[in-house]
Amino acid sequence: SKARHKGDVLFFDDSINARVLYDFTLEEQLRLALENNELSVVYQPQIDVLSGRIHGIEALCRWHNKELSHVSPIDFIAVAENIGMIHDIGWFVIKQACSDFKTLTASVPLPISLSINLSPKQLLQTNFAENITNEIRSSGIDTHNVTLEITENVLISDIIGVSPILEELRKRGFKLSLDDFGTGYSSLSYLSNLPINEIKIDRSFIDKLLTSRESESLVKAIIAIGQSCNMQIVAEGVETQEQYKRLSQYHCDIVQGYYFDKPLSINELSQKYMAIDKT
Ligand code: C2E
Ligand code: CA
Ligand code: CA
Ligand code: CA
Repeated sequence: SKARHKGDVLFFDDSINARVLYDFTLEEQLRLALENNELSVVYQPQIDVLSGRIHGIEALCRWHNKELSHVSPIDFIAVAENIGMIHDIGWFVIKQACSDFKTLTASVPLPISLSINLSPKQLLQTNFAENITNEIRSSGIDTHNVTLEITENVLISDIIGVSPILEELRKRGFKLSLDDFGTGYSSLSYLSNLPINEIKIDRSFIDKLLTSRESESLVKAIIAIGQSCNMQIVAEGVETQEQYKRLSQYHCDIVQGYYFDKPLSINELSQKYMAIDKT
């Protein structure tokens, strides 16, 4: 601890003071972010390795605040979960993504998918499967075109609570993706009991793909698991052509990362991708 004295009164370092103040401001500002229209959604393309064409898009939430400037979703999603705002923010992302996806696919009828990140708290909300189905369908989108991303750690921490919800989402047509794969401790047998369609190899392994034997073996093993379990494998955080080449040699299905695109606004996305495929 950075406290100078232990006891009834703690004297914190300035750095801790600054941190506390920052967290306080962040929380206070986050409560107002939705009504002040400070949140938005951007989309990162996912590329099909075999065809080289766009496979789908992942919706990623953004927050720009006057005082705090751009705040990383890693920080504000965690705060939103703690202060109970994740539900409102989660529904905002779902609605915005549906509306943007509808616009995108209406202009050009390409068979692309929409991926949405879900926090475990959203998943465990009463009637979540029913509510998200209604939201997606009322936007005129088929649930079969929607992939829900959940982190591997969520499953490990509450497998009993989460499994039936995953089953229900699958029955309703959604695809399920295991995000940040490799960072948790799930075993193979455990995976085969879950209704998962896709595995996303965590960026940390792609980073070290060409420099660490261990990462290389792990990536190969995950791709092999995917093939034997009939799951699609996505590599996230692909930043170089060399990484892409290697993943393609290993028969990875889908790639995503700065080498192809950064997350784009819906306008940038439709200009860049949809124009190409227009005939
Ligand atoms: P994630 O779901 O693992 O998303 C991938 C993150 O990696 C994104 O960061 C993306 O912008 C970034 N990224 C993509 N390609 C590259 C690359 O080539 N190199 C590097 N260095 N980074 C790359 P972002 O958008 O800052 O999001 C961070 C995390 O915040 C996400 O990780 C996700 O866990 C969470 N998040 C973002 N939006 C939402 C949301 O709407 N709902 C929930 N529950 N979580 C969200
Ligand atoms: Ca994700
Ligand atoms: Ca991820
Ligand atoms: Ca992540």
